[in-house]
Amino acid sequence: ENTVARIAAGEVVERPASAVKELLENSLDADASRVDVTVEAGGTDLIRVADDGHGMSEADLRAAVREHTTSKIDGLEDLESGVSTLGFRGEALHTIGSVSRLTIRSRPRADGEDATAGAGTELVYDAGEVERVEPTGCPEGTSVEVTELFANTPARRKFLKTTATEFAHVNRIVTRYALANPDVAISLTHDDREVFATTGQGDLQAAVLAVYGREVASSMIPVEATGDELPPGPLESVSGLVSHPETNRSSREYLATYVNDRAVTADAIREGIMGAYGTQLGGDRYPFVVCFLEVLGEAVDVNVHPRKREVRFDDDDAVRRQVDSAVESALLEHGL
Ligand code: ADP
Ligand code: MG
Repeated sequence: ENTVARIAAGEVVERPASAVKELLENSLDADASRVDVTVEAGGTDLIRVADDGHGMSEADLRAAVREHTTSKIDGLEDLESGVSTLGFRGEALHTIGSVSRLTIRSRPRADGEDATAGAGTELVYDAGEVERVEPTGCPEGTSVEVTELFANTPARRKFLKTTATEFAHVNRIVTRYALANPDVAISLTHDDREVFATTGQGDLQAAVLAVYGREVASSMIPVEATGDELPPGPLESVSGLVSHPETNRSSREYLATYVNDRAVTADAIREGIMGAYGTQLGGDRYPFVVCFLEVLGEAVDVNVHPRKREVRFDDDDAVRRQVDSAVESALLEHGL
């Protein structure tokens, strides 16, 4: 039974980046104002996500690693549950912990109603079993360390790519969250090198500066189209920043696109963006894009790829036209 559970977990936690995504999401859900993500060897040796969020008591911590436990009310509709989690709620910590060794340190915030929150707790969870729970000194908030990832699922371990590739996946995930949450200070460190750190005090432009650097940030053009400014279709607004056609990279990984604040990818969005640039980019090049789309939940089919964040719209053509139009207007305003 354990073996079956592990195989299932290995299907869900595909690679270090899948764990990073879940841990980062938990930190943001915990109302953190800063989240520090540290990985070693692309996340295969170590993943640590530390936040200053509301933290957990010892009882919370024990519950958090149990199967099917969530403290979050599942009142949100399909888009939320389908796109934002591993596919089922209250499973991430348990699932990651069944294919790795988790060391969680947490201390509840002493502010608010629970002023007696008290000290911290360390819980070690190894391959699906609680190994020990003890009091510890730690700052308010939570830090989750993942080591020995896939040690008990050799087939999955073998499936991992090079450190550079695994880190690229981690980087892409953390980047997307950093750009979508400029009010949270998010940092990423790989093998003792700080890759980026946002301040948590700026706007989208400031987050772009922190993540991509000055050259890209200074070339960004604002996109803002709502309602009547858009052709007919399911999108209510398209906003964000897109780079000058001469500032580009050859990888589509630089397209950070969001539907209702969830990081997603969709062919229609990508094609709409690329269509707006037309031939200005030159072959095989992609712009830097941070683009937020607002849509009525009904118009998105999140079941295309519940884990991979690939979404499809009921009317892909209309979405493509709307995105194309919004980005093209922004470029036109800049004489491009
Ligand atoms: P879900 O996020 O779907 O609830 P998880 O397995 O990711 O499921 O987390 C289980 C529970 O553990 C959460 O509902 C939350 O109560 C608690 N938790 C996890 N990570 C954190 C964190 N960083 N800070 C505070 N609580 C956390
Ligand atoms: Mg979660």
